[in-house]
Amino acid sequence: MKEGGKQEEKGADKETVLEIWGTRGSLAVSGPEYEEYGGNTSCISIRTAGRVLILDAGTGISRLGRMLAEEGFRGRADLFLSHVHLDHILGLATFPLLFSRDVKLVIHGEARMGKDIRQQLNHIFEPPYWPVCLEQAQADIGFQTIGEGQHLDLGDGIAVDTFRARHPDQCLMLKISVGNSTMVYATDCEMDREFIRKAAEFARGSRLIIADAQYAPEELEKKRGWGHSSWMQGNLLARSSGADRVIHTHFDWSADDICLSARESQAAEDWEGAVFAREGMRIQL
Ligand SMILES: [Zn+2]
Ligand SMILES: [Zn+2]
Repeated sequence: MKEGGKQEEKGADKETVLEIWGTRGSLAVSGPEYEEYGGNTSCISIRTAGRVLILDAGTGISRLGRMLAEEGFRGRADLFLSHVHLDHILGLATFPLLFSRDVKLVIHGEARMGKDIRQQLNHIFEPPYWPVCLEQAQADIGFQTIGEGQHLDLGDGIAVDTFRARHPDQCLMLKISVGNSTMVYATDCEMDREFIRKAAEFARGSRLIIADAQYAPEELEKKRGWGHSSWMQGNLLARSSGADRVIHTHFDWSADDICLSARESQAAEDWEGAVFAREGMRIQL
């Protein structure tokens, strides 16, 4: 873990920790030019008192799973899929917890095109695309259909609320509450002012927003309809909702460290609460 990737807050509930395992959108990348911000696709974990919530199963989930396996994790883990675009599910096939008999993995996702989340995943993770199905894994896997506008009580003071994002093939924005701490995961979303106004109401009360910053502000005109935003919209969403800060993520595979560093400076100049995600970033909620 990089020293620069650590962010700790004093006085917060030390038992709830958010970690970022993947910061890329669309495609995983590797090479010295991606060392600072990371090359794996979307995955975030939130751990509290023996519970694990995972947001998206991009390639970053493999490293999370390896850490949990090394720690001897057993029990229930809840995986929420914002949507099933490949950059958000591809890590699932090699997720180490799938191979533990002591794990119950509950996968939450939306129905699409007449298929529930189990059917959608089985459509990808089966021959000839992949040699084994998810259900052949040793872990006990459960599937839970979710949709927009829901409030889900997961027990132990953990709740998840959902909100419809603007994205091709659709996507869910997720509000995670653990005790008194609330944060919003808002990736894969093309935000305009009207959307930000509504989303800010959904996010109100959250201390932290994690937002889609796939593109630079000047790229958005050419990428209209692609379902993504820049740091500018994420900053506005966070400020409008009254959050303390925003972490921008889901960077386009073509943006290297030099490019992202320049964008991060611009975002922080616009609002001091803005930072860009780095793999290994760890935050106490
Ligand atoms: Zn994506
Ligand atoms: Zn997507």
